[in-house]
Amino acid sequence: MSRRINKVLVANRGEIAIRVFRACTELNIRTVAIYSNEDTSSLHRYKADEAYLVGEGKKPIDAYLDIEGIIEIAKNSDADAIHPGYGFLSENIHFARRCEEEGIIFIGPKSEHLDMFGDKVKAREQAIKANIPVIPGSDGPVNSLEEVKSFGEKHGFPIIIKASLGGGGRGMRIVNGIEEVEEAYSRAKSEAKAAFGNDEVYVEKYVNRPKHIEVQIFGDSAGNIVHLYERDCSIQRRHQKVVEVAPSVSLSNELRQDICDAAVSLMKNVNYLNAGTVEFLVSGDNFYFIEVNPRVQVEHTITEMITGIDIVQTQILVAEGYELFGEKIGMPQQEDIITHGFAIQSRVTTEDPLNNFMPDAGKIMAYRSGGGFGVRLDAGNAYQGSVITPFYDSLLVKVTTHAHTFEQAASKMIRNLHEFRIRGIKTNIPFLINVVKHEKFINGDYDTSFIDETPELFI
Ligand code: ADP
Repeated sequence: MSRRINKVLVANRGEIAIRVFRACTELNIRTVAIYSNEDTSSLHRYKADEAYLVGEGKKPIDAYLDIEGIIEIAKNSDADAIHPGYGFLSENIHFARRCEEEGIIFIGPKSEHLDMFGDKVKAREQAIKANIPVIPGSDGPVNSLEEVKSFGEKHGFPIIIKASLGGGGRGMRIVNGIEEVEEAYSRAKSEAKAAFGNDEVYVEKYVNRPKHIEVQIFGDSAGNIVHLYERDCSIQRRHQKVVEVAPSVSLSNELRQDICDAAVSLMKNVNYLNAGTVEFLVSGDNFYFIEVNPRVQVEHTITEMITGIDIVQTQILVAEGYELFGEKIGMPQQEDIITHGFAIQSRVTTEDPLNNFMPDAGKIMAYRSGGGFGVRLDAGNAYQGSVITPFYDSLLVKVTTHAHTFEQAASKMIRNLHEFRIRGIKTNIPFLINVVKHEKFINGDYDTSFIDETPELFI
């Protein structure tokens, strides 16, 4: 059964809010923005048909977490659906349920999926149930120092302590030997409590030099599940993605197929709905499940470029009840979804690579972007005169390039990043150029340790 969406409120800001507005407008759906006090002059506000101040008197981040304030704006503006973007409330079960209660469509999976995948321990249990390889880890959360020590002794160090509710590369501690356990355990717990409001942690064996490979999944309300192939997100700093590539240049076709099949079987098992990503670590010919992100991801752009499938529009149509293979969405059957060429995304942030990537704030005095054939830009407040505040994520513009070969896509990326002129605020562009032009990157000879182990990137 389908229910037409006439107006979408985006419970987010910056580039992803604008990305969703564009998808809606092309589908003939009206759009509503929310903005905090600090975002009064933020571009996303002006890209929507209507915009309303949210969370007055609240802290900058809390404004976008103001569940009741957002629901009230949705009701008053007659929005019949909410797209949560990524971060903020995108994985918040209470928010999804409140939308349900108010008869507002939450553009995302069912709240039960947010529940099972928001918690990494529960997600691991689902992966085990679906017979998918997981990293040797504790049987559920660990509750004492002794448990961590005996896990390390049994499986060997290094191990990694992870917050059950962790995300964004935070709440993880690598432990190299038994003497480090005590401090790491108490720090991991207090960091988890501070960042996620819950100090539950679990332990996994630390995989040496893995690649981070993730699979884009879509499910519809008729129970169909497809994958849109993989992304290689191994270029990371502090466990956070910096440059992403699709498809991976270093996977054999056999391993690629096994990983995509594993992702599909997990999501079929839970009857997954809408867009989601299943993340794996790959070491040699082995792959291990790490988590599921039940939402659109920052790096969805590269999958769109190689498949030609609009992920955000598909999210909206699935939320309206359309079937993936029906006329409206027109998704090809799995065996007919083919990828074309290679896409790379670089995350341009307002961070100073020469000062430990400290976020910079201030006014952009001059802004000229790259562009041209095979280039896509998804920008937030990136324009001359824009004031970058210190309150939010430092992502300024996502630069995506697409070409027949990986080398061509990389060369387009280098050319583009060089073309940017941004004055008045520091950015990580020089660092990104160093990454993309590095021989190891070009040869696909990299894993998650690349940035940490390549000091010449920082000059
Ligand atoms: P988050 O939800 O914070 O993004 P993830 O579980 O997805 O956390 O892990 C993020 C990154 O941390 C991975 O891509 C990988 O680089 C590193 N990581 C996580 N678990 C392990 C592990 N067991 N061994 C080695 N690296 C890991």
